[in-house]
Amino acid sequence: MKIHEADARVIFAKYGLPVPPSRLVTKAAEAKGAAEELGCPVVVKAQVLVGGRGKAGGVKLAKDPAEAAEKAKAILGMDIKGLTVEKVLVAKAVDISSEFYVGMLFDRVSRKPLMMISPAGGIDIEEVARSTPEKIMKVVIDPSAGLLPFQVRKMAAFLTGEKEVAKQLGPVFRSLYRAFMEVDASLAEINPLVVSPDGKVWAIDAKINIDDNGLYRHVDMEGLRDDSEEDPGEVEAREADLSFVKLDGNIGCIVNGAGLAMATMDMIKHYGARPANFLDIGGSSNPGKVLSAMKIIVRDKNVKAILINIFGGITRCDDVANGLLQAKKDLDLDIPLVVRLIGTNEEEARKLLEGTELVPAATMDEGVKKAIAIANG
Ligand code: GDP
Ligand code: MN
Repeated sequence: MKIHEADARVIFAKYGLPVPPSRLVTKAAEAKGAAEELGCPVVVKAQVLVGGRGKAGGVKLAKDPAEAAEKAKAILGMDIKGLTVEKVLVAKAVDISSEFYVGMLFDRVSRKPLMMISPAGGIDIEEVARSTPEKIMKVVIDPSAGLLPFQVRKMAAFLTGEKEVAKQLGPVFRSLYRAFMEVDASLAEINPLVVSPDGKVWAIDAKINIDDNGLYRHVDMEGLRDDSEEDPGEVEAREADLSFVKLDGNIGCIVNGAGLAMATMDMIKHYGARPANFLDIGGSSNPGKVLSAMKIIVRDKNVKAILINIFGGITRCDDVANGLLQAKKDLDLDIPLVVRLIGTNEEEARKLLEGTELVPAATMDEGVKKAIAIANG
């Protein structure tokens, strides 16, 4: 779950990170009041759940309250990467003499938390990793020991030669690590962490993604979710208890089991086509789930064929077949369905589907090839 910068700032501040004061507003007039309260200059920042707001024109400095209102007016309602700006954050601006990147994530290789830092802050870290990888330092943290003093010193020295700045970096690293671990984040990022001309360190941007699998431990954070900024299909899927991820191909997939769903997507790619989604309907065989899955998939106008790949175990093939027939009728579906159903009750399922427009496939390979042939016209 992504959360807004304004909420991430509150968490950062709670953990002692040096976050400049700010106010969240929805109207230009309120931005003026906020700027008066905070003292100018301020920075007016679009609150949307995507990165690169600065480049897109969603972050603007203002020298006085009137200008803050002007900038807020320009940014509110703006479209940034398909998202409409409904709120802006007015934050006390900081003069910048240098910018760093400091981020926490998980390292899949060592299977441990990883702190990643760079003296090339303020820009896209993926770009830094591509063009100047020597400007990135990665430090794996053993969670049973925590961040160790030698690691802190090594990282501080990588970012700065100034003793007074280095001294402030230790607490920043420690606080970010603690915040990341305690909120069950999958990502916690300060980009940029800046040094002002008077030598003080400030976190002027805040990004936190919470691991959905850890959310049950943070009931209070469920309120930070912003459905309006998520793919509507993903929201609906969550409510129907399906795991769904929208992708950009043209073959819709309905599969039971995450492993089989991954294998199905791999095979589609192997034959040169692209899946429109990842979708795992799970282990139960409730026909209603197939119907919900179908509804979500057909909303995507790119979808030219739907491949149903079910390996029946606990899931009963005849239940899935019933769900498919129901969906075809209810949704008045004109997208061709390629169906591969094997396992528990497959005979019954085959009988149910006989004589319908559904395209049967005996194997996964055949199903994928048929779906691709249909999608390609
Ligand atoms: P992002 O583009 O979505 O990552 O948004 P940021 O919060 O990182 O802001 C983008 C850029 O705006 C930063 O890299 C800075 O260059 C600039 N910026 C943001 N806040 C301030 C500030 O307080 N003072 C100054 N001088 N520039 C700022
Ligand atoms: Mn940023």
